Amino acid sequence: MTDCLFCKIIEGKLPSDRVYEDDQVVVFKDIHPKAPVHLLVVPRVHFASLNELVPAHDGLMTHMLRLLPVLARKQGLETGFRTVINTGPGGGQEVPHLHIHLLGGGARLPGF
Ligand code: 5GP
Ligand code: ZN
Repeated sequence: MTDCLFCKIIEGKLPSDRVYEDDQVVVFKDIHPKAPVHLLVVPRVHFASLNELVPAHDGLMTHMLRLLPVLARKQGLETGFRTVINTGPGGGQEVPHLHIHLLGGGARLPGF
């Protein structure tokens, strides 16, 4: 996707503060962090949101879920972390390239 912000970041055409990458995902710091640790786990393949999820993504989605606690530990989030996936305008999604927010650190996050 040539006009996708996260595709451009993944391709290195736009800068980001990367903390991890492998053959399936790139992980970088959110530019407007909402917690002391706020990472975005972004698949290299472009699809807009959970609404576009198909069985071919099953391995990728499992890979991302299993990566979350590993990233959290590396970031020092010993007592836990929060994950958020916004889907579509009604879900508050701003960037239409699927991503998982990983948040934590500092004060205890409020539940909801
Ligand atoms: P969404 O609302 O789509 O779930 O989340 C998009 C996130 O991307 C927001 O938290 C926003 O701060 C972050 N973001 C938007 N533009 C950039 C950017 O250019 N670089 C980085 N690192 N994060 C961005
Ligand atoms: Zn994209």
